[in-house]
Amino acid sequence: MSDYIESYYAQTATENEPRPALEGMVKASVCIVGGGLAGLNTALGLAERGVRDIVVLEAQRVGWGASGRNGGFVGTGYAAGDDRLIRQVGLKHTQELHALTVDALHLIKSRIAKYNIECGPNPDGHLGASWFDNPDEMKEWRDFAAENFGEQYEFIPRERLREEFCDSPVYFDGMLHRGVFWFHPLNYCLGVARAAESLGVKIYENSAVTVIDGDRADKQVSTDTGVVETDQLVVTVGGYVNGAAPQLNGAIQPVATYVMTTEPVDEDLLQSAIKCHHAIYDTRFSLDYYRRLENGRILWGGRGTLRLNEPDNLKSMMMGDLLKVYPRLAGIRAESAWQGYMSYARHRMIQLGELKPGYWYAQGFGGQGMGTTTVAGEVLAGAIAEGDETWHLFKPFGLNWAGGPFGKIYGEVLRHRVQARDSARAGLDRLHAAQG
Ligand SMILES: Cc1cc2nc3c(=O)[nH]c(=O)nc-3n(C[C@H](O)[C@H](O)[C@H](O)COP(=O)(O)OP(=O)(O)OC[C@H]3O[C@@H](n4cnc5c(N)ncnc54)[C@H](O)[C@@H]3O)c2cc1C
Repeated sequence: MSDYIESYYAQTATENEPRPALEGMVKASVCIVGGGLAGLNTALGLAERGVRDIVVLEAQRVGWGASGRNGGFVGTGYAAGDDRLIRQVGLKHTQELHALTVDALHLIKSRIAKYNIECGPNPDGHLGASWFDNPDEMKEWRDFAAENFGEQYEFIPRERLREEFCDSPVYFDGMLHRGVFWFHPLNYCLGVARAAESLGVKIYENSAVTVIDGDRADKQVSTDTGVVETDQLVVTVGGYVNGAAPQLNGAIQPVATYVMTTEPVDEDLLQSAIKCHHAIYDTRFSLDYYRRLENGRILWGGRGTLRLNEPDNLKSMMMGDLLKVYPRLAGIRAESAWQGYMSYARHRMIQLGELKPGYWYAQGFGGQGMGTTTVAGEVLAGAIAEGDETWHLFKPFGLNWAGGPFGKIYGEVLRHRVQARDSARAGLDRLHAAQG
């Protein structure tokens, strides 16, 4: 029987009660493969709409994948970014897509309250800290986001950033996005699972789907120990693909990314560096994201690579990243570090749709899955339960082949190029600033 990976989140989980594995034949109206937030939100969305006989099959444990081990930033927008979406599908279509993520944010907040999900504290606001000297660009984006997406960003000049928010030699100015927040992702997953179960959803853990027969009206989904016969099927396996759905699996690349938590840090020392309780990220392609945890710990996340083996020196690598930003914290120690897989499509957007009649999928949430898995859950639940057609908004983002091993090589080359460009730009900006 598998358990959660060793992480700060598993250590502080509100529960760790295993659910049974699938045994024998079970009939369902909807069977969902994957118990991450995409699958769980779909199950809860369906149950809230009155659908019964819903089954979720999870290979390991609820929230065992990316959904239960991530940075916990709950924001709006998609991993593709609004700029890229506007270029691809135009402003109006992007606004409609973006609005779904704003609705999702409100729904997450209301579900936390309604189902008493203990995933706090949930401090308000994400702070973007810029490695580049680009205040005009930032203000332009703030105005554009307010006018076109109704998002409220506050520009934070560099002196104020250092005094009130975070004091690092690598940052120039900042941008505070209010209304978005942070949560304990594993506890949120567990809460959504419990909420779905309270409405009759049946969740099986340690039930890896090995064969999917999705061509028939009564589709069959098999594990080593059982079979689910179902009218409708939803596949949401994120970056943890095992070949049971080759067409879906081939359309994404799993990308590994890392999180570290520190031992408790002396309050005065911590306060001299990270002064606020907002979730903080920076503006590079390969960004750091972090925040203060309870008991003086820091959670620090970052990096992304198509090489999926966990580095041996993960703790020291992540601590090195932290100390580049906050050299004054030298001497603090890492407590735990882990990796997880995100799933990315070539177009960097969610892939969501109907593969065959009654065979649905949602994947490719990238590094921005906390809000967008709720979008997917709601859109799929609306489509299945009510024939709602919102899912057509995702049709332009197809299941293009992600390139297999060639996609990996291309992706790594691209990543190194963009990282080199970011370092050069940040270095030049700092040099110019030092010269006055
Ligand atoms: C380290 C890290 C940090 C991140 N930080 C953030 C963040 O701060 N904010 C944010 O918005 N997003 C973040 N993300 C991204 C976010 O976590 C993901 O986009 C999101 O969780 C994807 O959800 P999912 O349900 O698609 O996939 P997952 O959560 O990975 O769930 C997929 C599930 O499917 C199961 N599965 C796989 N194959 C089978 C099978 N054959 N049968 C049954 N079950 C199967 C897996 O066991 C897994 O539990 C981060 C991701 C990582 C890895």
